[in-house]
Amino acid sequence: MTLRTDSLEASIRYEGPTRSLQLTTTAADGLAAFEGQASAAGDGHVLTGPLSTANAKALQAAFPTLRPQLIGGHRTSVGTGDRTGLATPGQARAFGAQGSGVMPVLAQQSIREMDRLGRTAQEVMDDTVFGLVEAGWDSGFGADCDHIKTTEGIDRGLEAGFVMFTLDPGDMVADVTGGVTEADAETLPWDQLEDTLEDAKKRYVGMTLDVGHSQVEVTEQDVLTAVVKYGRAVVESMCLYRHATENATQEIEIEFAVDETKWLTTFFEHYYLASELTRLGASWFSFAPRYVDGFEKGLDFLGDTEELRLNLEAHHAISEQFGGYKISLHSGSDKFSIYPLCVEATQGLVHLKTSGTSYLCGVEVVAAHDPELFASIWDISRASYVKARASYQVSAHEDRTPTSLAGVDLVDLIRSADARQILHVGYGDSLGGTDASGASIHDRFLAVVAAHQAEHTDVVAAHIGQHLAPFAAGPAGH
Ligand SMILES: [Zn+2]
Repeated sequence: MTLRTDSLEASIRYEGPTRSLQLTTTAADGLAAFEGQASAAGDGHVLTGPLSTANAKALQAAFPTLRPQLIGGHRTSVGTGDRTGLATPGQARAFGAQGSGVMPVLAQQSIREMDRLGRTAQEVMDDTVFGLVEAGWDSGFGADCDHIKTTEGIDRGLEAGFVMFTLDPGDMVADVTGGVTEADAETLPWDQLEDTLEDAKKRYVGMTLDVGHSQVEVTEQDVLTAVVKYGRAVVESMCLYRHATENATQEIEIEFAVDETKWLTTFFEHYYLASELTRLGASWFSFAPRYVDGFEKGLDFLGDTEELRLNLEAHHAISEQFGGYKISLHSGSDKFSIYPLCVEATQGLVHLKTSGTSYLCGVEVVAAHDPELFASIWDISRASYVKARASYQVSAHEDRTPTSLAGVDLVDLIRSADARQILHVGYGDSLGGTDASGASIHDRFLAVVAAHQAEHTDVVAAHIGQHLAPFAAGPAGH
């Protein structure tokens, strides 16, 4: 596939696992911004260059569709992370097959994943740009710098040209399971909240919160609990928000996410967060509360689907009271049984995030073509699962999975629930590890996938396509 302007044509060439950028132009100075080997050809010029940041930036300058776009105007959107940097072509093909109903967010990685993989935000952006050239994709894409917990994380994303910033104040959310008192609430940084406990109580105690299917009477205890649980997270959110908006050199969009905390976000707590962030001057297009239990990496929804429907309807109803923003579903991959209800309950005003599921497509390709490499990945992932599972909601049992892969159907294994979750969670240690000969597993993994990129693209396109179809269909009756 190629990308074209009137005077420039770009494509990616594969020679085995080795990739290069190929450019053809009729303009005399059309290649000046690119690095590589240029030569005259017929009445034009050609260039073979590396997949470097300089070339990614030059491509973005030449092709406006390679610059990330804002998502806000698109009611329904899906983010597809890419740990390998090779999944973008398959993901783009999946979006293309669904028509233009769902906005693709093709550059998306959390700061945590970048750090585990030793990848910079710029590399995430570069890989997406080259993947879009490979796919011939000119229909636009979003770029989400995900789960940012520090201003330094924001700087990384801004520098690399990301336009969506998912701010995560989760570390400042307090455990209130032991109960809270007025004295606990008095210890909050009220000056930073530009507020007093007395005023906060006046605003909320006694209000009736309408969440569509029911009404919530807000008590003084509800307010004390919300303030203690999320008050410091509001302060942290505003600190991150102000840093992002004050340092951005182009228009950006904000998501606030508290999904990775242990304790469910009640309807009033969602309302409190939205109300406080609005009072302090923030605006955002997407919000991720902590939903009811059942969202686990790489597996279908494990909770009560009717409870989830009521939960999402209420969160959506609250968002409508603040002008309507997206309800964001994280750890969203492989939850095929609930996608239609997620779209319905939010009336399509929803954002889905998947990340590791595309990596598992790459793992399938590796298992098919280099089973010995797969065995190294499996051994390390399985051993590190117990350690890594502390940071995720996961329930896989490693003792139900094989230690020896002799005679095991590897694709069946990768698609089974326990192994899937183990591989999903253990990627950091396995890709960061070395094989018996001391070679980097990450390098070998990328080489095997790149050498079979056409097949990999087919696997990713089919798998991501399954995720997109219910979102592209929209809510029933619309
Ligand atoms: Zn999340």
